[in-house]
Amino acid sequence: MSDFATACPSASKGFCLVLSAPSGTGKTTVGELLTAGDSTIVRSVSMTTRTKRPNEQDGVDYHFVSPDEFKEKIRQGAFLEWAEVYDGVLYGTPRETVERVIRSGSVALLVIDVQGGRAVKAIFPEAVLVFLVPPSLDTLSRRLRQRGLETDEQIQKRLSKARAEMKYLPAYDYGVGNDEGEQQSTVDAIRGIIAAERRRISRWEPQ
Ligand code: 5GP
Repeated sequence: MSDFATACPSASKGFCLVLSAPSGTGKTTVGELLTAGDSTIVRSVSMTTRTKRPNEQDGVDYHFVSPDEFKEKIRQGAFLEWAEVYDGVLYGTPRETVERVIRSGSVALLVIDVQGGRAVKAIFPEAVLVFLVPPSLDTLSRRLRQRGLETDEQIQKRLSKARAEMKYLPAYDYGVGNDEGEQQSTVDAIRGIIAAERRRISRWEPQ
């Protein structure tokens, strides 16, 4: 039997970290803070048929494509998972990028909805699912209004969706509160989860 010193890992295997939260919970910012200055956490850039917002960049925030292009990608099997998140709007995680990041021993960060989280767990049971829990639906509603990107009707839709999304919480491995102005502690909590998951013995790379 090898002693503990030689059994200690020099590296862990890469894995998928899914970050989901009701819209307006600030998951985009949390995702950006998590990857900033840490080359071992790589965010997967999803493909979507949604129109680009003024502050967004193609290839950075999303790969913006037409519905026909998206359907072609589905046909080619290019997605790890894809879902219709809002009426007729499709989002998908490119399979190749995620597989490449995992193979390189890094963490592939997927900021995706709850349907996507469940699908990823079915494909990669070793994936880690983190749910950002909003302070309250009232706070969420206020944030969406302040963001000013949507009509009242669209905001109402997002809120009823948020209520439905909260039902997926038990399917997740970790729940992290994300209070306004507390984003750094949310990020620190997720970094702690990643640090622990890297030490999981089943993820140790054989010497
Ligand atoms: P938004 O349009 O506000 O950027 O995103 C809308 C929702 O789609 C968010 O919950 C976001 O996490 C989710 N989303 C973004 N990319 C993907 C993806 O590739 N797959 C899935 N299932 N959801 C995604």
